[in-house]
Amino acid sequence: MSNFFKIKNYINGEMVEPVAGQYLDNIEPATGQVYSLVPDSDAADVERAVDAAEKAFPAWSKMPAAHRSKILCKIADLIDLDVDRLAKTETIDNGKPLSLARSLDIPRCSANIRHFATAILHFHSESHVTDGVGLNYTLRGPRGIAGIISPWNLPLYLLTWKVAPALATGNTVVAKPSELTPMTAHMFSEICREAGLPPGVLNIVHGLGAKAGAAIVGHKKISTVSFTGGTVTGREVAKTAAPFFKKVALEMGGKNPNIIFADADMDAAIQGGVRASFANQGQVCLCGSRMYVEEKIYPTFLEKFVAAAKMLKVGDPLTEGVDQGAVVSKTQLEKVKFYVDLARQDGGKFHCGGSSPTDLPARCRDGYFFSPTVITGLSPTCRVNQEEIFGPVVTITPFKDEDEVVALANGTEYGLASTVWTQNLARAHRLGDRINSGTVWVNCWMIRDLRVPFGGMKQSGVGREGGLEALRFYTEPKNICIQVPGV
Ligand code: NDP
Repeated sequence: MSNFFKIKNYINGEMVEPVAGQYLDNIEPATGQVYSLVPDSDAADVERAVDAAEKAFPAWSKMPAAHRSKILCKIADLIDLDVDRLAKTETIDNGKPLSLARSLDIPRCSANIRHFATAILHFHSESHVTDGVGLNYTLRGPRGIAGIISPWNLPLYLLTWKVAPALATGNTVVAKPSELTPMTAHMFSEICREAGLPPGVLNIVHGLGAKAGAAIVGHKKISTVSFTGGTVTGREVAKTAAPFFKKVALEMGGKNPNIIFADADMDAAIQGGVRASFANQGQVCLCGSRMYVEEKIYPTFLEKFVAAAKMLKVGDPLTEGVDQGAVVSKTQLEKVKFYVDLARQDGGKFHCGGSSPTDLPARCRDGYFFSPTVITGLSPTCRVNQEEIFGPVVTITPFKDEDEVVALANGTEYGLASTVWTQNLARAHRLGDRINSGTVWVNCWMIRDLRVPFGGMKQSGVGREGGLEALRFYTEPKNICIQVPGV
């Protein structure tokens, strides 16, 4: 029997073992070694979680919003007090640089919770006067139990992004984080207990998507499903949820264009482009993995961009000053290598990267590392330019004019986000309108205002989260119509 730390499920306010007593290995990506065990939960664990969520619903949904808000704000405060420990844990679990976990991931978790905990205090429903006849007003109540499925790339950030609005609006939750990165969700369970979240309001069941995840999505008492993950998995989730007519939000993959016009501030575009290409080892759904550069500046831009990519320090993610850590798993590393091989077969020219680094510290020699990779010379329609790789690989392609680049930008099945670098204000507005993606950034990348509708078009998603959209998603509108002659 191994001595590894065993993560527990969080059900009905207790930290509990999975019913079947089965566990999976949890591997540290930077070393390739097992460092803890995660429950391999199944439908029986989901059933217990649903029971707890069902029992907790009446009291939680009727609790005054101000009281719910106070408990959620307490959770946010406890996260803020524990940033260093949470960030280090996330780095060990996920492979991302400690500096990124500390500056972005963990602060965003408390920001998510505080945002929705306070938004609910200002949430209001609509009323409409039907001329001379009557008055309509809309009641918006929680929908019941929400099933939340989240991925590994921003583990606690994306879990809290969904859990916070669901709880703020009075729903109870059964959540399944990715089994590849379960440790911060485990710590979050303990924080929720400490903050006094009533038992059963939030339940976290760890395990595999095809088993625990599918049992959540297919459970008939779970009426709302919010999923973030890949498009192929999203399709499965949609299929499972459809026969029950569940309300479903799907936040899925991206193959986002990053467009640089000749009039752009080149230094800013290079700096922003490097972040957009390689942040979190390229494992952000919003990463700009297809760069398009106007012909006039293409040679200069390429030279400077490659020089900047080569400056990124790949190494032990726990070491300060490291820009790139490990990708999340062996499977993900193999996926990246598969696409890099495809690029080679298709005649791509490699300007840097293309393989795993060889100068890693001893601790990391079995870890899952891949160097920042810049490729040119590929057709816009090849698989590398059409499919989501989710790794530190970017392609660069020259373009002639606005019409051509709009067609290229819109030329994939995805539509999550895009970035445009230009000093021409009219062009910025035109492209904002013409590019089919849920977000269009101009002269920036990854600025996130939690109030704006967030989500993707085409194969990148269905539904929007963020601000009011999320509060609406987790509530059921009911119209009351009263005849009032003469109003
Ligand atoms: P996956 O689609 O593989 O998994 C997402 C979650 O779904 C995991 O918890 C997974 O569990 C679970 N799951 C898998 N199969 C099922 C199933 N049949 N029923 C229910 N749940 C299931 O995504 P990744 O974890 O690999 O994350 C990367 C993907 O997420 C990328 O495509 C990325 O673009 C996308 N993403 C999208 C974002 C957005 O906002 N649009 C934000 C961040 C990421 P398990 O891990 O066990 O498979």
